[in-house]
Amino acid sequence: MALLVQKFGGTSVGTVERIEAVADKVKAFRERGDDVVVVVSAMSGETNRLIGLAQAIMEEPTPREMDVLVSTGEQVTIALLSMALNKRGCEARSYTGAQVHIKTDSAHMKARILEIDENKMRADIEAGRVIVVAGFQGVDEQGNITTLGRGGSDTTAVALAAALKADECQIYTDVDGVYTTDPRVVDDARRMEKVTFEEMIEMASLGSKVLQIRAVEFAGKYDVPLRVLSSFEDGPGTLITTEDNDSMEQPLVSGIAFNRDEAKLTLLGVPDIPGIASKILRPISEDNIEVDMIVQNVGLDKKTDFTFTVHRNDYKRAKAILDRICEELGAQECVGDNDIAKVSIVGVGMRSHAGVATKMFDALSEEGINIQMISTSEIKISVVIDEKYLELAVRNLHSAFELEKAGNGPE
Ligand code: ADP
Ligand code: ASP
Ligand code: MG
Repeated sequence: MALLVQKFGGTSVGTVERIEAVADKVKAFRERGDDVVVVVSAMSGETNRLIGLAQAIMEEPTPREMDVLVSTGEQVTIALLSMALNKRGCEARSYTGAQVHIKTDSAHMKARILEIDENKMRADIEAGRVIVVAGFQGVDEQGNITTLGRGGSDTTAVALAAALKADECQIYTDVDGVYTTDPRVVDDARRMEKVTFEEMIEMASLGSKVLQIRAVEFAGKYDVPLRVLSSFEDGPGTLITTEDNDSMEQPLVSGIAFNRDEAKLTLLGVPDIPGIASKILRPISEDNIEVDMIVQNVGLDKKTDFTFTVHRNDYKRAKAILDRICEELGAQECVGDNDIAKVSIVGVGMRSHAGVATKMFDALSEEGINIQMISTSEIKISVVIDEKYLELAVRNLHSAFELEKAGNGPE
């Protein structure tokens, strides 16, 4: 007998038939004697549909109203799933985020969970009910509806599991675990039995959208046992764990992540004087634009080319700022490119090994793929390349590091 938090994503509740299948699954756990708290996403495509409706009215509606709108998707699924459970004789109650007191800050569309009052949920669990909670949403101090950012139902599930001290948080989705890379891009990508929190945080932050990054950070911080599984077939899935120092030697690279959401901007021929980097980036950060990678290189003429990347949605705004300050900084020109992609290799094993970067660069050059930017940390190497070579690069790196071979990921 265990207390489980089970989260079902958009495709897992995409139709009435799928919702009925989820109800069967939850009922089977109840019959086994487990207590179950379910978190659901909106039916697949619904959040995008709602965003589309808003944008048909105006390009940038206020974040507050966006949250009121997009949070409705999840309210539909909690009701339908609870009906399907009740129909099966499995007593269930649906709750919105506000009803189970998921308190967040007021950062609409990217709110952070501050606290959860688990008392109401405990009372239902003790009364033998399944609780079905709307993912992705919360409520701020003033009672405004907030949402947690795209993919945020994962974070709701982990936060509920932490608050209730659940035995496991199970993320049911349309793949049967975390793979060495997105299985939609590489056919022989391999499911990992286990992956460390550290690697999973890197993979999620570098573009693997199988788990929202905040969910992984939260689970790591509060020691929530986290597992990714398929809602379509039975299997062990992938367990996200703390690093096991006693285990056999780690592979150099555990996974490959990629991201198409970035754009690159360069100021050419900037005078190489102290303070220039902050003069370039200050107006960018004052406009709330986040900068990811930065590269600066001084030429013989004491001029520097200053390049950085931003989210593609912020590209136009960032370019306009640079065009405005280009002349006053004494730069020659501002150029931009939003047809780029970032590819990253991730692995705790690379910490103690030299030569991983060379192997990565060789694999890319064999295909004639030019590297535009590089950044590294202890357990990852990222490169920016032309977007049209992205899938080729991911496939080539996957085979160069032999990720398709069993035993290559931490088992
Ligand atoms: P859900 O709607 O259930 O939250 P998501 O679409 O958010 O599902 O996440 C599942 C998808 O993540 C998969 O269909 C897969 O294409 C993608 N994905 C990206 N990288 C990986 C990876 N490394 N392992 C597994 N899936 C991945
Ligand atoms: N429905 C939200 C989204 O599409 C939240 C989620 O699915 O996790 O981003
Ligand atoms: Mg998701």
